[in-house]
Amino acid sequence: MDEERKCPECGGTEFAQGTFGAEPKLLPINIIFKPGKGSEVFAEICTKCGHILNMRVSKPEKFK
Ligand SMILES: [Zn+2]
Repeated sequence: MDEERKCPECGGTEFAQGTFGAEPKLLPINIIFKPGKGSEVFAEICTKCGHILNMRVSKPEKFK
């Protein structure tokens, strides 16, 4: 982890990981009708202002 990172919005230095949970998944559009595919989305959130610094999916290989 990079200890020097700061939120670009408020300058905050405390972050948390968040996820949309099990149901609202970000799905590759070509497999959207295939249940069981897709991947959880994890977001890194500034705990001071709520700005989302970045988002990533847990299983990027599913989007190939
Ligand atoms: Zn912030």
